Amino acid sequence: MQPLSKITDELLLGRALSMSEAQELLSIDLHELMYHASRLRRHFKGDTVNLCSVINAKSGRCSEDCVFCAQSGHYNTQCAEYPLVDTDKLKTALENALRCGARCFGIVTSGRQLSPDESRLLCGFINKDGQKQITIAASLGEIDLQAMRALKKSGLKKFHHNLETAENFFSNICTTHSFADRVATIRLAKEAGLEVCCGGILGLGETWQHRIEFADTLRSLDVDSVPLNFLTPIAGTPLEHLKKLNPLEILRIIALFRFMMPDKDISVCGGREANLGEMQSWIFHAGANGMMIGGYLTTGGRETEKDIQMLRDLELNH
Ligand code: SF4
Repeated sequence: MQPLSKITDELLLGRALSMSEAQELLSIDLHELMYHASRLRRHFKGDTVNLCSVINAKSGRCSEDCVFCAQSGHYNTQCAEYPLVDTDKLKTALENALRCGARCFGIVTSGRQLSPDESRLLCGFINKDGQKQITIAASLGEIDLQAMRALKKSGLKKFHHNLETAENFFSNICTTHSFADRVATIRLAKEAGLEVCCGGILGLGETWQHRIEFADTLRSLDVDSVPLNFLTPIAGTPLEHLKKLNPLEILRIIALFRFMMPDKDISVCGGREANLGEMQSWIFHAGANGMMIGGYLTTGGRETEKDIQMLRDLELNH
C-alpha cells in the first residue's frame, strides 16, 4: 500500500478510496489514521460542527423486530409508548433545538409506516412552524413517493432513514423487513428531491468486513449525511448483554467512514456518551464533523452546555 499521507493527498483531490485500501486502514496505527482523517475533515468540512437535535415524536409499539431497539413491540423493554405528539409539543422541541444551537431538527416516529393523517399533521407543522433558521429532517419509516413529495412541498429538507448495518449482516438484526426495503425508501427520498441522512448503528456484533461493506453501500447511494450510532445495550432486547465497543475501536470506525466518504457529513449520534466517556472530543480528530445533542430517542444524553463547552475548548465552531 502507498503511504497513508499520499493516499490522503489523492483523496483530497477527489479520488475514492479502494476497497483494498479500506481493508488496509484497519491495521494502520490509530494515531496516524486519525491525523489523516482529521486532514480530510478539515479540508472538506472546515472547523464547523453540525449539531442536530431530535424529538421522539411517536414512541414504542413498533411492529418491527430490530434487535437493538427499545421501541420494538417484540421485546419487553421500559420504553415509553405514546402516539404522535401534537403540534405544540413539536413546536416546543423545535424552539429548544434552536436555543441549543442545532442546525438540524429531526422529527422521528417509531413504526414501519406513518398513517396518512399523521403525515398530514406533520406536513401542516412543517409548513407553519418549520420555516426557521434550521433544517427540518424527518425519520418516518417507509414513506411512499406521494407522501415524500407532500413533505418536501411543505418545507421538509431532509429525510432520514438508516440502513443500520451491512446488507450481509442485516438478517441478524431484523427479520420483519429487508435491507432492500430500506434501500428502496432511500431511493424514493432522493427521487422526491429530499436530502438524505442515512447511516446506522455499530457494535451489533458485525465484523470489520461488514463495516467496510456498509460504508461502501452508503457511498454508492451517495447519501448526504451519515449518522453513526454506537450500541447502548437495552435491557429486554436480544442484545442486552452484548459487550460495548471500546473507545479506540469507535474512533477507528469513524476514521474508516471519513476515508470512505471524505466529503460527506459524518455525525456521531446515539451512544456517544455511553461508549466514549471521556474520549468524546476525539470524534472530531477521527473525522466526524457533527454530533447529536440534547439526548436520543430512548436514552438520555448529557447537558448541552457540556457539549458546547467541549467545542469551545477544541476551538470548533457550530
Ligand atoms: S429501529 Fe425503527 S423500525 Fe426498527 S424496531 Fe425500532 S422503531 Fe421499529
